[in-house]
Amino acid sequence: MQEGENVNDPILTESVLPGLDNSVFIQAPQARHDLVRDLVVNESMGVVYSLDPGRRRRNRQAETRAIVDYTRHRAPRAPIMVDANLYSGRNRKTGSQGLTAGWTDFQQTVCSLPYALTDSGYIGEHDVAALDTVLAAADKLTGRVVTVLPLHWKWLTEHLDVLKARLEAFGRPVALALENKTDPLGEKGAAAGLCSLIATGVPILLLRSDTSAIGALAYGACGVAVGTESGLRHVYPIVNGSGAPAMTSILVPELLTYYTLDKVGDAIQLNPDLNLWTCRCLHCGGRRLDWIRFHGAAADQAFGHSLSSLSALARSIAATPASLRPEAWTEMCQNAQLAHYQIKKVNEEETWEGKSVLREWSLVTPTRTGA
Ligand SMILES: [Zn+2]
Repeated sequence: MQEGENVNDPILTESVLPGLDNSVFIQAPQARHDLVRDLVVNESMGVVYSLDPGRRRRNRQAETRAIVDYTRHRAPRAPIMVDANLYSGRNRKTGSQGLTAGWTDFQQTVCSLPYALTDSGYIGEHDVAALDTVLAAADKLTGRVVTVLPLHWKWLTEHLDVLKARLEAFGRPVALALENKTDPLGEKGAAAGLCSLIATGVPILLLRSDTSAIGALAYGACGVAVGTESGLRHVYPIVNGSGAPAMTSILVPELLTYYTLDKVGDAIQLNPDLNLWTCRCLHCGGRRLDWIRFHGAAADQAFGHSLSSLSALARSIAATPASLRPEAWTEMCQNAQLAHYQIKKVNEEETWEGKSVLREWSLVTPTRTGA
């Protein structure tokens, strides 16, 4: 937190969509609306609910109304969006299957949500036809609609020119959800591709993200959503019918990276005196991060700590003048890379190394056109 900042204020940057009232959202499964309530109130963030893949095609309107009503009642200031999440899971919808106009109408007219998200299907690596189908269908929708683009990560590198041309012609807000088996923005050139897409001036939101959300915000994304669990921090490819890993991870703020609770706990035992384990987020209040590992409800505490830490990082970027945010983010990534070298492994000769995403963000040229 910067001096003079109020944690009760929404986290806002200048590029936020009109009427959205927050630039930073947590993205949570619909079943976790109980925990979300406290977080959106305590941290003044918005929320994107991802509907349950198992039940999404049935009763989705009734279930959406229930979680929207619950959240509005308990966190009246939090903007809400709802992701139909049809693009993930085993029987996922593909982009070529178009959009359901009634779904976006429902979000606007019945739920009065500030923006409706389309129920887009997955758009594979070379599938220009699917991208065109989604954008053509979205072009017919009226009102405040954000078109969800669940994309294979190579759309940000090899196919970036095609994507940029299509989005510039489309000209309306889009929300990216990126697919890869590991961090999509850790792939060579992907973070630079995202920044180049944002620089077109087309309003871009980044869904299902992690700390890279802060980078996207620094480069002018108009909204970002940070997943509350690993399955919501990017889109996982379908491999033998399984999805995201189920292990609980926590954000180590000084490292700008999520690691499993066990990995962090073991590293603290080996390197107990490092300052970087002390967390000053509202949730931890100066405790060492391994308090979470030994808590009876460790997953819930990990969830609270990670979001609270991300909120603090987002506030620090939002409080920086827009023209200086990219440089500030680059410095944060470089410092996080360096911090990894303080952590010794078991043999004491080797140390941790930062993940590739930190290097990729550090390599983006920090220039920015306008706020
Ligand atoms: Zn914390």
